[in-house]
Amino acid sequence: MKKPDKSLIYPLFIPNEACPGGCIYCNQYKISRAHAFDLKQAQAEVQAFIRRNPNRRKEIAFYGGTFTALPGSRQEALLKGIYDLLDDNASIRISTHPAFIDTEILQRCKSFRVKTIELGIQDFCDLPLQKSGRNYTQAMALSAAEMVRSAGFVLGLQLMPGMPASDEQTLSENHRLLRQLKPDLLRLYPLVVIKDTPLHSIYLKGKYTPLTIAQAVRICADYAELCAAEGIRIIKYGLPSNLDQTDFIAGPFHPAFGELVRQELLIRKLDNIPRQMWKLDKKEEQLLKAHGCMYLSSKRHLLSQQHQHNRFVRN
Ligand code: SF4
Repeated sequence: MKKPDKSLIYPLFIPNEACPGGCIYCNQYKISRAHAFDLKQAQAEVQAFIRRNPNRRKEIAFYGGTFTALPGSRQEALLKGIYDLLDDNASIRISTHPAFIDTEILQRCKSFRVKTIELGIQDFCDLPLQKSGRNYTQAMALSAAEMVRSAGFVLGLQLMPGMPASDEQTLSENHRLLRQLKPDLLRLYPLVVIKDTPLHSIYLKGKYTPLTIAQAVRICADYAELCAAEGIRIIKYGLPSNLDQTDFIAGPFHPAFGELVRQELLIRKLDNIPRQMWKLDKKEEQLLKAHGCMYLSSKRHLLSQQHQHNRFVRN
């Protein structure tokens, strides 16, 4: 199947609107730092964005809430409010929770030129889903993804390495199902503990251990290799860097997380090539020196302890 072209994205945030509640790690106000959604203001911004980019393929995206759990009239008002502004190169993208997908919802999306639907799956395994308050099962997640795909939408999935009760076994189950589903797009958001969420209290009681940055980078690089082999495009690694430092409690948060993953992938590639045959361009050289990485100057087992704290080193 032909993969979708890259589009410009204009994000609109509806922070936690219609969320069913229960997701123990989430606070979209802190993650996106967006305010309550204002349609009039959004329309003015979208209009300007569309005028600035007449010849580019573009999508106006609703993020940060559970779009398809909004009352039907609200979904329609938001979709129509944006649909009326679209030019021929523009469409709409939504992000939503897999428990809120049915034929009527998909039909509504179709009629307002929604092209891409991203499902916040987070994990395909029942125990991590249950422990994180997600309120659906693997079977429901798979069925939602299949419905989106067979209705002809571009299918995006979001996965969250490091959910409570996740381990090597759940990780390999996620790999298996990703290979089976082959979504068009994937986002990877390793779980971080955000201030004043239920997970924050659980963490303070010592009942949750987040991934280290090195573990999260390794897991994401494994996903990247799988996706490269399966033709799945990864569109984001890690939470947005605009998370306020005071709201970050623990876990694999790094403002340049994606770069750490790309660095890891390059190191893996070089590990398989004799050093005298390396041909590095300037960008690759810079990448190998970024964030305190000492790969170019020493063997990885000689990396100093000091780098093992906040900076990425290979395990
Ligand atoms: S994870 Fe998704 S569904 Fe859950 S509260 Fe956050 S935005 Fe809402």
